[in-house]
Amino acid sequence: MNVNQSAPPVPPFGQSQPIYPGYHQSSYGGQPGSAVPPTPYGAYNGPVPGYQQTHPQGVSRAPPSSGAPPVSTAQAPCGQAAYGQFGQGDIQNGPSSTVQMQRLPGSQQFGSPLAPVVSQPAVLQPYGPPPTSAQVTAQLAGMQLSGAVAPAPPPSGLGYGPPTSLASASGSFPNSGPYGSYPQGQASPLSQAQGHPGVQPPLRSAPPLASSFTPPASGGPRMPSMTGPLPPGQGFGGPPVSQPNHVSSPPVQALPPGTQMTGPPVPPPPMHSPQQPGYQLQQNGSFGPAGGPQPSYGGPYPGAPNFGSQPGPPQPLPPKRLDPDAIPSPIQVIEDDRNNRGSEPFVTGVRGQVPPLVTTNFLVKDQGNASPRYIRCTSYNIPCTSDMAKQAQVPLAAVIKPLARLPPEEASPYVVDHGESGPLRCNRCKAYMCPFMQFVEGGRRFQCCFCSCVNDVPPQYFQHLDHTGKRVDAYDRPELSLGSYEFLATVDYCKNNKFPSPPAFIFMIDVSYNAIRTGLVRLLCEELKSLLDYLPREGGAEESAIRVGFVTYNKVLHFYNVKSSLAQPQMMVVSDVADMFVPLLDGFLVNVNESRAVITSLLDQIPEMFADTRETETVFAPVIQAGMEALKAAECAGKLFLFHTSLPVAEAPGRLKNRDDRKLINTDKEKTLFQPQTGAYQTLAKDCVAQGCCVDLFLFPNQYVDVATLSVVPQLTGGSVYKYACFQVENDQERFLSDLRRDIQKVVGFDAVMRVRTSTGIRAVDFFGAFYMSNTTDVELAGLDGDKTVTVEFKHDDRLNEESGAVLQCALLYTSCAGQRRLRIHNLALNCCTQLADLYRNCETDTLINYMAKFAYRGVLNSPVKTVRDTLITQCAQILACYRKNCASPSSAGQLILPECMKLLPVYLNCVLKSDVLQPGAEVTTDDRAYVRQLVTSMDVAETNVFFYPRLLPLTKSPIESTSEPPAVRASEERLSNGDIYLLENGLNLFLWVGASVQQGVVQSLFNVSSFTQITSGLGVLPVLDNPLSKKVRGLIASLRAQRMRYMKLIVVKQEDKLEMLFKHFLVEDKSLSGGASYVDFLCHMHKEIRQLLS
Ligand SMILES: [Zn+2]
Repeated sequence: MNVNQSAPPVPPFGQSQPIYPGYHQSSYGGQPGSAVPPTPYGAYNGPVPGYQQTHPQGVSRAPPSSGAPPVSTAQAPCGQAAYGQFGQGDIQNGPSSTVQMQRLPGSQQFGSPLAPVVSQPAVLQPYGPPPTSAQVTAQLAGMQLSGAVAPAPPPSGLGYGPPTSLASASGSFPNSGPYGSYPQGQASPLSQAQGHPGVQPPLRSAPPLASSFTPPASGGPRMPSMTGPLPPGQGFGGPPVSQPNHVSSPPVQALPPGTQMTGPPVPPPPMHSPQQPGYQLQQNGSFGPAGGPQPSYGGPYPGAPNFGSQPGPPQPLPPKRLDPDAIPSPIQVIEDDRNNRGSEPFVTGVRGQVPPLVTTNFLVKDQGNASPRYIRCTSYNIPCTSDMAKQAQVPLAAVIKPLARLPPEEASPYVVDHGESGPLRCNRCKAYMCPFMQFVEGGRRFQCCFCSCVNDVPPQYFQHLDHTGKRVDAYDRPELSLGSYEFLATVDYCKNNKFPSPPAFIFMIDVSYNAIRTGLVRLLCEELKSLLDYLPREGGAEESAIRVGFVTYNKVLHFYNVKSSLAQPQMMVVSDVADMFVPLLDGFLVNVNESRAVITSLLDQIPEMFADTRETETVFAPVIQAGMEALKAAECAGKLFLFHTSLPVAEAPGRLKNRDDRKLINTDKEKTLFQPQTGAYQTLAKDCVAQGCCVDLFLFPNQYVDVATLSVVPQLTGGSVYKYACFQVENDQERFLSDLRRDIQKVVGFDAVMRVRTSTGIRAVDFFGAFYMSNTTDVELAGLDGDKTVTVEFKHDDRLNEESGAVLQCALLYTSCAGQRRLRIHNLALNCCTQLADLYRNCETDTLINYMAKFAYRGVLNSPVKTVRDTLITQCAQILACYRKNCASPSSAGQLILPECMKLLPVYLNCVLKSDVLQPGAEVTTDDRAYVRQLVTSMDVAETNVFFYPRLLPLTKSPIESTSEPPAVRASEERLSNGDIYLLENGLNLFLWVGASVQQGVVQSLFNVSSFTQITSGLGVLPVLDNPLSKKVRGLIASLRAQRMRYMKLIVVKQEDKLEMLFKHFLVEDKSLSGGASYVDFLCHMHKEIRQLLS
């Protein structure tokens, strides 16, 4: 299917919508009264060859067992904590507290949510300068100096890697395929960054940062914070080019305490005298917020974790460390954006506007550009030339979520019906009519905004222009006035020139010993009985058009006839899994309401039929093959829901062996852990995509199942993977059922093709996500739901024009849940610039991180993980060095200067670098890494944001009656007060951390026990208690869960308990056990890299 088909002649506009076939379903006992001829389901006219090979067995209790006794692996304990499965309580992370949780009474000034960084209006500070950017400068300068003079011992396990990486660091990802998955092809975009003369090997000499710092002047007066709301219009494209927009630290020499930076506190926006050396006009972000009044803070307070210090040789003096409050704070940036941009709707009428952050709640008004819910860009102002783009190294990418769900206040895209002629398109480039097309010659022709071709306007589409050259009907037509809309597709856009049948869902249930033993099969069958009433339906449809079918399997497959006319379901066994076929056609895919009695009977019987099974072996590829063949026979698209428990070791195509080998970590062969162990699944996936067969996989492993291989088909068909390690009904049913309900009810587009067109000068060159590509332009998605994103990278192929800007158009051709063929169009116009400062002023760091994470996570398929990390670090340094060189005012080399829009790039990038895929801890399994790698591939910007930098919410500091979410604090141990309780979430995991000194009343209110020691560590559910605190916390948990794509299982963690190590893994500003650098250390390292590039 090609989006690129030429449009047939256009009929008169306003022609009535074509009558869509009623999807004659008589073969399925379907809808009477269909107005169209029956679809020739030839295959339904009789048994297919091979039918006789099956063994209809009725529904007698027929354990299709191989007789193998349950092997011990079935009961094997889960040695590994899986994602969201941390409740096992069997974590071997070493001592429970390598970092003591000592607190000074005064520690609230820093970590306590009573004085959250975000809520301190800097201007009200009565004291002198708080921890300042000046200190940052001094410390960085000191670090740099002493580091150069006396290289310190190599830090153990800093994330930057040993010096041996020079070669690999400057290499590219050899085989980073451009298209999503495994093909090989053009070199990675990052590889271009490598030849920079200034690139140095990642420092072996990374000094123990804290020890070599020039100590900050302690106890001195502090500057008023530079933090405050953005001045109106600032930072979002408004200010003239000549005003650098960045954060900088002042030069050291400019900072006799209290001289230049002091002065009467003024309300925001902060006013900076232009004469202040080193300070820029738009230095609104400064280095971090004021942490509240801190009159006597002069350095690390006793007992604080030793940032930057290395375990090992004792150090002569307590190290001075860079003040975490003086470096850019994610919490502050998020809070500022909420305050500044959360109240007004984001109106999309203006080209090149940077939208509010994904963490800000805002409404969108479509006035001609697609909502940021559909498209977000790394930059809204693109360099005019490829030379500029190469210099800046800022990736130009868009994260597109074509079917994104909208809040109830925002309208879904209008559906435009142009009748039999179909949508109006440019004759040359086939772009669809959009608000950026220019009507000329009195409205008789239009010039394409993508290729400049001048097209005739079909007579029936003609309309007069007003005095500005705009069509007078522009606001009556979505395609002339809105950024996003849909067209009804004509039959020309359909496979085989036939309107599609409604899709089907096939449930394929593993009934081997493991699945039965855990109670999974019984739970699932019970749930499906009611869940089938909630299949997705369109608009006001009374019932879903989706048909359903059922298969169970272990090492053989069982198909079920659930035709409505049957009194009981009938089972047919296919044991020849090497040559899979579908043994029945009539009665396999049915309408739920018509066959309800038979389906209910089947779901009641399945758990009983296999209750005594001893079969432990399973097949996997033949199951997918069977589902795909069934859809093919029914001539429809659809989705397979696979519930699978084990490594498929039974003799069959796609059989796998256990190849897990943790010894490969940090070797050149580590990449094989992420690659599929056989090419069979890619071939299978290709067939699935051709059929529009999307696969959602629910895994329930007790041990290694090779997620890297099993997820190939879901990944390439636009499906989802869910993983519930060591599944137990009592602990995990809520999570599983919640995910299942959500997954089944999701609105899905089937058999989809996406094409991104661009105006002359740039083009889409690379794509990331869960899909398949058989050519270089069309993204094929067997299924696409409202959660899935496709990240697209653009490159220059010509010069862009400042005046005309650049236009993107994403066209998605898909079949709706009801079987209607549609085109969804999203348009977005961007600015183009000749000044690098404009690029840096209009970037979006969250989107950059989304792109960089996906790029890196694909890179590990082909390159050593360390090479991937080094590439990211180098690119980040180049981006920031280019800014420093071209956009910042001359200043001391000791300063670290970050562009305002990118001041969080280092902290966020560090989170990506130390994530489990790129730097696994000892407790992370190979399957976990493959699973997360696959998940991130389809994440939108909001998901990657919270996944890499979790939210940490103090619970008892805000007033109990407050209904809003408590303000978050930074993800660092030193922000934890042992008298408080915190929730931490990252979209997949949810922890409730309880400090050891929490008031007894709080403990009682939440846990219904009388003391801290009585709280059960690892608890997964809070007791339902009738008091305000309990209600509030449970309400907050429910609200967090509702915001996320997947159910987050709660784990209660007590301070100083062994489970706390798991929790600390998510305190991403701290140094990690797996060797990941702390934020402070990484910032120093980044500074050093930048200086090397500039020198
Ligand atoms: Zn064109």
